[in-house]
Amino acid sequence: TEQTLGRLAEESWGRFDDHDSVYYEGVWHRSHALAERARRMSGGFAEAGIRPGDRVAVMMANSPEVPIVYQALWAAGAVVTPVVFLVGAEELRHLLIDSGAAAIVTSPELAQTVRAANAGIPVYEDTAELERAAERGPVARDPGDLAALLYTGGTTGKAKGVMLSHHGLWQVAKDAFDLSHQEGRNRALVPVPLSHSYGLIITVASLHATEPQQAVLMRWFEPRAFLDLAAEQRVQYGTVVPSMIHLLLAEPLEEHPLPDLAYLTCGAAPLGRQTLEEFERRMPGVQILEGYGLTETSAVTTFNPPGRRRIGSVGLPLAGYTITIRDSDGEAMEIGDVGEVCVSGDSLMLGYWGEHQPDPEGTALTGKELRTGDIGCVDDDGYLYIVDRKKDLIIRGGFNVFPRDVEDALDRHPDVVLSGVVGRPDPRLGEEVVAFVQLRPDATVTAEELIEWARERVGRVKYPREIRFVDSIPLTSVLKLDRKALRGRLG
Ligand code: ATP
Repeated sequence: TEQTLGRLAEESWGRFDDHDSVYYEGVWHRSHALAERARRMSGGFAEAGIRPGDRVAVMMANSPEVPIVYQALWAAGAVVTPVVFLVGAEELRHLLIDSGAAAIVTSPELAQTVRAANAGIPVYEDTAELERAAERGPVARDPGDLAALLYTGGTTGKAKGVMLSHHGLWQVAKDAFDLSHQEGRNRALVPVPLSHSYGLIITVASLHATEPQQAVLMRWFEPRAFLDLAAEQRVQYGTVVPSMIHLLLAEPLEEHPLPDLAYLTCGAAPLGRQTLEEFERRMPGVQILEGYGLTETSAVTTFNPPGRRRIGSVGLPLAGYTITIRDSDGEAMEIGDVGEVCVSGDSLMLGYWGEHQPDPEGTALTGKELRTGDIGCVDDDGYLYIVDRKKDLIIRGGFNVFPRDVEDALDRHPDVVLSGVVGRPDPRLGEEVVAFVQLRPDATVTAEELIEWARERVGRVKYPREIRFVDSIPLTSVLKLDRKALRGRLG
């Protein structure tokens, strides 16, 4: 089959009988009606002058429209450029200019921001306008053509456009679907933003479905709403990130049994082993299946398939990817040795948009290999373990401190919801370890007690010398720990 997303979408539209497909804010939307809208919208884009290869920005919070806008754009041959709905006018303007977007699709609630960005391109606030067009078949594209341009850099420096091909997204989504799908379990709770690579790959994976899929979409994750929706809609699996697990653990899970929920896929940031175990203990019957990836690998590089998972590991590489661990000289290392995780394979991104741009963080494609900036190792059976990110490393008095180790220790304290550890510049030591901590509402622990708790677990070098209590830990759009924001708060 020709691996383009326009074709894939078209095939998926007629694959199953009409069924409840997407649930959002109290309403189930039927699959055939959504497909019909996508078909018409694709004709609408063509009539509006969108040409194959044009980048079209999509700035929308999760809703049933998002997947149909993506599918319509692919069918029209356009390049989906998702923008997180939380960005401000200035950042949006940068993304629109950088990507050379031909148009932007948004929703009325965000129209003001879009107008303020003033990029001089057509703005579609109401997709119904586009749906008045006549249907057209999908525009032919090559599997190697650009399908999506995703901006990354949420947790560090300046946003860069990652170019993903039809083939790459098609293949990764297929592998991810095949590895995670369990027969008869087709109803998912989706709280991650569809504008992030994680959400995008969920969207494409559902187009590969072998059974009718049903997605319960959340506009924004909130732990109580997650538990209520999961129970009310009897969801069978979910797609989460680690901070969602932390926030759920702060709820009385025992009062919210979810007998239909079998598994949660989890990725995008580190998940502590103890956190996973505590969750599974308090939510019997639910397995957490951890995966790892980057926007540059279409969100998924490795995954722990049910029945073959290894707790503590982020899983096995997808069929299209090979992992090599390299030392600082770029030499391949032995099994078990800790070094930089490098990924090769033909599903990798095509490159960064505007290759002439300098790459200050050093994440670059060398040949067909991506240096991820993550530190880890591989075991005898090929399972990958992530230790931390190179750029998050704190060097205190010449000793390496991985913030993740300290966070794992703090997060295990029963009074802690979530912690974030960063290095504060220090004239004597270079950097000092500072922990921001969000406590549970009924917590009684003091800063001194927490420092002592951490010291007992991570030792005399790494423990945080300072604890700062905060009402909530800053999180990015996909609810990753926002270290940039934390560093900004150091003052
Ligand atoms: P940047 O600001 O560097 O672009 P980002 O967080 O916005 O970062 P993403 O592509 O969303 O960029 O995230 C990729 C990174 O997320 C990986 O390099 C890795 O550090 C982290 N990550 C993803 N999954 C896991 C996991 N299971 N365990 C640990 N870290 C993970």
